[in-house]
Amino acid sequence: MKRYAAVFFLLCLFLAPAMSSSPAPRQAALPSPDNPFFKPYGTPFNVPPFDLIKNEHFLPAVEEGIKREQAEIDAIVANPEPPTFENTIAALDHAGIFLSEVNAVFGSLQSANTNKELQALARKTAPMMAAHRDNIGLNEKLFRRVKAVYDSRNTLKLDREQFFLLENAHRDFVRGGALLDEQQKARLRELNQELSLLTVKFGENVLAETNAFKLVIEDRADLAGLPPSVEAMAAEAAKQAGLDGKWVFTIQVPSMTPFLQSSEKRALREKLHRAYFMKGDHDNEFDNKENVKKIIAIRQERARLLGYDDHAAFVLENNMAKTPARVDAFLKQLWEPTLVKSQQEAAALQAMIDRRGGGFKLASWDWWYYTEKLRQEKYALDDSALRPYFKLDNVRQGIFALCGKLYGLQFIEQPGLPRYHPDVQVFEVQEADGRHTGILYMDFHPRESKRAGAWSGGFRRAYYENGKRVPPVASIVCSFTRPTADAPSLISTDEVETFFHEFGHALSTLFSQGRYRGRSVARDSVELPSQIMEHWAFEPELLALYAKHYKTGEVIPVELVEKLEKSSLFNQGFITAEYLAACILDMAWHTLPNPAAVNVREFENKVIADIGLIPEIVPRYRSTYFSHIFSGGYAAGYYAYIWSEVLDCDAYEAFKEKGIFDRTTALSFRTNVLEPFGTEEPMAQYVRFRGAEPKIEPLLRKRGLEVNPAKPRQ
Ligand SMILES: [Zn+2]
Repeated sequence: MKRYAAVFFLLCLFLAPAMSSSPAPRQAALPSPDNPFFKPYGTPFNVPPFDLIKNEHFLPAVEEGIKREQAEIDAIVANPEPPTFENTIAALDHAGIFLSEVNAVFGSLQSANTNKELQALARKTAPMMAAHRDNIGLNEKLFRRVKAVYDSRNTLKLDREQFFLLENAHRDFVRGGALLDEQQKARLRELNQELSLLTVKFGENVLAETNAFKLVIEDRADLAGLPPSVEAMAAEAAKQAGLDGKWVFTIQVPSMTPFLQSSEKRALREKLHRAYFMKGDHDNEFDNKENVKKIIAIRQERARLLGYDDHAAFVLENNMAKTPARVDAFLKQLWEPTLVKSQQEAAALQAMIDRRGGGFKLASWDWWYYTEKLRQEKYALDDSALRPYFKLDNVRQGIFALCGKLYGLQFIEQPGLPRYHPDVQVFEVQEADGRHTGILYMDFHPRESKRAGAWSGGFRRAYYENGKRVPPVASIVCSFTRPTADAPSLISTDEVETFFHEFGHALSTLFSQGRYRGRSVARDSVELPSQIMEHWAFEPELLALYAKHYKTGEVIPVELVEKLEKSSLFNQGFITAEYLAACILDMAWHTLPNPAAVNVREFENKVIADIGLIPEIVPRYRSTYFSHIFSGGYAAGYYAYIWSEVLDCDAYEAFKEKGIFDRTTALSFRTNVLEPFGTEEPMAQYVRFRGAEPKIEPLLRKRGLEVNPAKPRQ
């Protein structure tokens, strides 16, 4: 199965200390009575009143939020009592609730349903927020209080969660520049300002470039090879673009991939794939090459200012991996067998081209097409035969059923709740005994107003107010295949996996039980809750519950399930190679001392040549649209998916040992890992669940990457 289709941009909303979200106490003077942020929401479950929120409400709300948080900080600093955990660390944790809520709504819409006005607003608020965070992070008097508590930490009788919160608060200040002199602090502020604007611009350019390209087909002969469902989807897209009677393909994944998989027109495949991998690299107004260099230059200068060798060293200090050297060694261990596997796959595809008298050399735009042909030949399995069993609604029911089996959860649709777009579905999540857990928003299909990819975020993170849990409002946003005039949304196995993945992130938001709002989740452990969910997606016992033909209701035939299982290692060389190449590119950028001197394309080519990536494979992301690392939260952290995969593969072994629906194992996973996620060192939590640190072998087995597969295992 193709992995890492999933993108998880918005979790960073919850991870940044100043941005964890929660409902606002709206007791202060009301600057504008019409602005829904300035009064109680008055909605069921206190969800944001999307029907009332207008673009013009955000700026005054952000301004007011900044003012209120600054006042809360001033009150902590002005406290005449000596600093204590409660009056300083807990008070700091509780500051900024109003602003967090506004930003959670604003940030979510900016990614999932943006428009010109919101983009302009983001360019305005990004530097405001950067300055505000610096005003807190560089506040000397505040730092002195935090440091006083930190210095006496061993005598305070703090519990585990409090101790972790304190250590992180102190570290955040140090990493935010609290120990710098005045001149250095001034420079740091400038860098943060500039960076905030560049990252917004980078994301806007990627979106503009994604929307700018359309492959318009006018001649029916150019549809050769495409299954009727793909044709119908393209006809629908054409209609929406005002091109009735034609067919439109875009470089959004649900439109592009089926075309690359089945179009017999090699020149058109090339045109579409080129448009995809040249995004942001057209030397036009949306070109991102200069932005890449500037972002890296600023990150490197900031890292050095703070006393680190480079941005990678700065980032990794907070991760499980700790140092760039450990990440490099880990990636290298995986790269060698991956390269061999991808070379074997390329040779098999070339042989097929030759057998068919193709007379050309395999290129990147041929990979999907011949891979599908080979898959059909070897396993008699093709994407369009599978899709009818994966109707989106059925997959959703399958995930709900899984959560029922593991955790006893129930999902109740709430069609009356306000939503930000008519496509969005909203569910209340309840425990087995009917207690309210939280609310979940799901937004499934691509739009021009939405970023590409899939992610999970939300509008409120759970926390405790006066001993009472304030329930969370989570969301998942995806870019799945749309329904057509004659068929409901029938999704690919990749998309099924992505759905399980994002749902796992949402579960960790829904289950969150920390007493404090602040979470410090190591980036390279963040994919554990999401990726473990992928393991269940194609388990025969679960498929029997949800994979039903959309027309006949027939459960997916056993032979098809067996073929799916047998083909699970197929194309893993390609999938792993394109992913690892992007990880290595990410690390190369964030350890590069002087980016101003390089040419982006040449640098990228050199990194790729140095590892020996075959030319038939393009890294999963090229620099100019690598949003994870240039506008998301994964800088020097794209490796986190496969690092986390060591954890999730090992963790899933526990379920396989006890039975994949075992309630006791699920309860242990929930209480030791999911509920306290981000309130302690991740390895300590993991060991409490598993009884030992994770082993790498389950990951290598799953991807067929055993270094010496010929040697029998002990
Ligand atoms: Zn994820």
